Amino acid sequence: MFAISNYINIHIDNQLYIKPDYLTDPVISGNKYRKLKYNVLQAKKQNAKTLLTFGGAFSNHIAAVAAVGNRFGFRTIGVIRGEEIRGNIQENSTLMYAQSQGMKYHFVSREAYREKETETFIKNLKNEFGEFYLIPEGGTNELAIKGCQEILTEQDSEFDFITCPVGTGGTISGIINSAKNHQKIIGFPALKGEFLRKDISKFAKRDNWDLITDYHFGGYAKINSELISFINDFKRQYNMPLDPIYTGKMAYGVLDLIKKGYFPKDAKILMIHTGGLQGIIGMNHVLEKKNMIKIQ
Ligand SMILES: *Cc1c(COP(=O)(O)O)cnc(C)c1O
Repeated sequence: MFAISNYINIHIDNQLYIKPDYLTDPVISGNKYRKLKYNVLQAKKQNAKTLLTFGGAFSNHIAAVAAVGNRFGFRTIGVIRGEEIRGNIQENSTLMYAQSQGMKYHFVSREAYREKETETFIKNLKNEFGEFYLIPEGGTNELAIKGCQEILTEQDSEFDFITCPVGTGGTISGIINSAKNHQKIIGFPALKGEFLRKDISKFAKRDNWDLITDYHFGGYAKINSELISFINDFKRQYNMPLDPIYTGKMAYGVLDLIKKGYFPKDAKILMIHTGGLQGIIGMNHVLEKKNMIKIQ
C-alpha cells in the first residue's frame, strides 16, 4: 500500500484534477480497499475465519472481498444475485477472478436476494456455512466509512469542490465527514435512487454536499455508446482509464457541468477516481454481444 500524493491535472482552465485513489493497491482497488480496511481488522480481532458478503455478478466489491480473504487468510463466501449465473460463471470475469482467490458462491434468486438482510436469511446462511463476519452489500457500514474518511488528505484542502461516484453512499459519506468546511462534495449516483440522500444523511455528519442525479445513463450498469466513446477519449487524452459503471459516469458528468457553467470560473475541482477497473472486461463482453464499440 502507498499513499497517493500525485494528482493528474486535466487541463480545463487548469482547475480540474483527478486523484487516482485506485492505485492504493494493485488488486484490492480504490474505494473497496478503503471500505474493507477496518472491517478486516475487526474480523481479525473477532477471530473470524470467514467473510461473507453479497453482490451482483460484476461487483467490484465481490472481487475485492475475495482478494482480501486470499491475502489475509479468511475463507470467503459470496452470496450472488441471480441463480441463472450458477452454470455460467466461466463467462463472467469477475466471478472467475473471485473464485481464483478462493471465494465460494451461494447463488440466490432475485426475490430471495431482496430478503438478504432478514434474520431468517442470515440464520439459514449460518446453518449452511457456519459462523462468519458479515460485510453488507457494497461494503457500506460504519467501519467502511471510517476507511473512506482517509481518502482525502491535508493536501486536498486547496480544492473547492470534491466529486465522487455514488453507489450505496458509503464512500461519499466518508469524504463528506473528512472534508474541510469550505469544501463542497458533489456525488454522481451510478443508479436511479432518491433513497440515496436519506442513506447518506445517516452516515454523513455535515451538510456540505449534494447529489447530481442526471448522469446515471438509465440505471446501474446501464451504458450507451456516448459514454463508452467518452471513456475511450478520456483515456486517449489523459492517459487515465475510467470504468463504465462509476468513474466514467462521474467524469462525464463533471465535464458536462463545467461546459454548462455549473462551477464558478476559478473554482478548483478534484475528482476522486474510486477504481472499479476490473469491471471493464465484463462490460466489454456485454458490448461485444451487442456489437458495440468496446472500452480500449
Ligand atoms: C463500489 C464503487 C463505488 C460506490 O461506492 P459506494 O460507497 O457504494 O457509494 C464507486 N466507485 C467504484 C469504482 C466502486 O467500485
